[in-house]
Amino acid sequence: MPTAAITGSASGIGAGIRTRLEKDGYRVIGVDLREAEVVADLGTPAGRAAAVEAVRSHCDGRLDRLVTCAGLGSNVRPPSRVLAVNYFGAVDVLDGLLPVLRRGAQPAALAIVSNSAQLAPLDDDPVVQSLLAHDEAEAGRTADAGDNPILAYLGSKHALGRALRRRVRPWGDARVRLNGVAPGPVSTPLLEGTLADPVTRDAVASIDVPIGRWGEPEDVAALASFLLGPEAGWIHGSIVYVDGGNDAEVRPDRY
Ligand code: NAD
Repeated sequence: MPTAAITGSASGIGAGIRTRLEKDGYRVIGVDLREAEVVADLGTPAGRAAAVEAVRSHCDGRLDRLVTCAGLGSNVRPPSRVLAVNYFGAVDVLDGLLPVLRRGAQPAALAIVSNSAQLAPLDDDPVVQSLLAHDEAEAGRTADAGDNPILAYLGSKHALGRALRRRVRPWGDARVRLNGVAPGPVSTPLLEGTLADPVTRDAVASIDVPIGRWGEPEDVAALASFLLGPEAGWIHGSIVYVDGGNDAEVRPDRY
């Protein structure tokens, strides 16, 4: 039975992907703050290292699939916490488990990014630059000084997408496929949190998705299942949108 590890497996999109991969026949190792095979805090370097070690031990050093999904919403403070979980909690787990993945069968990994990652002009943003330089202290300091969790959220996802695309050659050389999924608004506790927060509420509530409904975790899980599977064998370094047309409507002339 192939083995998959999923961070953020206890709730929302991660839980949906977990259910789907179990139906697909995987043994799943969940990583989360609670209700998981591996209980770890991906918001700290020690927690990430412990999570990598525990997953390695659960899968006997051979992992076939990895999904990094754990994340915090754009309403969470301090902003440095959002960076720690959304960016470092993904990148450090991906990098830490690459040696374990390369021993797997048709191995593949997927990071859950966001379709909001391109909404702001973040190419040269100082927080994004510090994230890409893997300087957690500097990124956290700059983000906390700005005290803007929305920008921290967008920056964490923007940098994560770039970080995975920058890894396309070494991961390709290792024959481990690495892709990203960029969801639009999906009904989960994270989205509920942004709808309950007076600062983020109006912007989130006004998102009008062309296909006529917000997403469900199953919509993302179906794409994850395909991208992790053998039929996606030539898809590597891609970020695939699953957002009911939201990104295409907001940025019709960019893709
Ligand atoms: P969720 O809150 O339902 O689930 C997130 C999970 O991550 C929870 O189980 C939580 O316990 C876990 N987590 C949080 N901090 C953690 C930590 N420090 N260590 C370990 N686990 C931790 O949220 P969701 O909406 O399912 O979000 C999943 C991912 O999808 C996130 O990365 C989010 O940014 C992304 N995303 C969500 C949406 C959306 O609209 N829901 C849209 C785009 C992207």
